[in-house]
Amino acid sequence: MAHFADLSVYTYHPEEIIGFPGGATSYQPSYERLNVGWLDAPHEWETGIVPDGFADALLDIIAGRRINQMRGFHVCTLCPAPTSPGRPRTLDVKHRSRTLYLGSSEIRVPSGPGTMFAAPTLIWHYVTAHGYRPPDAFVRAVHAYDPEWTSGPWVPADADRRDSRGNPLVSPDLRPLFARTGTPALNLRPGSGATGNRSRR
Ligand SMILES: [Zn+2]
Repeated sequence: MAHFADLSVYTYHPEEIIGFPGGATSYQPSYERLNVGWLDAPHEWETGIVPDGFADALLDIIAGRRINQMRGFHVCTLCPAPTSPGRPRTLDVKHRSRTLYLGSSEIRVPSGPGTMFAAPTLIWHYVTAHGYRPPDAFVRAVHAYDPEWTSGPWVPADADRRDSRGNPLVSPDLRPLFARTGTPALNLRPGSGATGNRSRR
């Protein structure tokens, strides 16, 4: 797999493509993406203890929206070479009665304002099998992860949305979602404190 240093700027795919049941959303992100967990032999990696529950929290994120799904699979180059050539070396893991296949997509974890961590799904394997210790800021962001970010202002309102056959989708139900998260100009009503002090819930 490609190697990118932790916290370097992500440039692997220019666009974000977020899968959802029956289609995908794609857009050019306005937030900055920072690489985490793009390990590749022979580059060295940080090792250390991660907090209790971290690997499970990571797996919950991996089980959610698929980001930049590829057709093929990256394999772990830190594991010993397979003894029987020709067999696929995909990594799978059981998660809440589903099987997740690692190595063909990525995750996004919102960080501070305008910043998103970008990691391969293999990161779970690196943590659990190779003692990889991601940067502290990433560990904190994983524990604070909100799966609803794909419905909020991180995704531009004019993002391209298509069904699984590639037909454009209009999504009238996006509007209330954006309004609920407090995107400016959608929920400003007279007398509702519209002078810059939007309600926080
Ligand atoms: Zn491995």
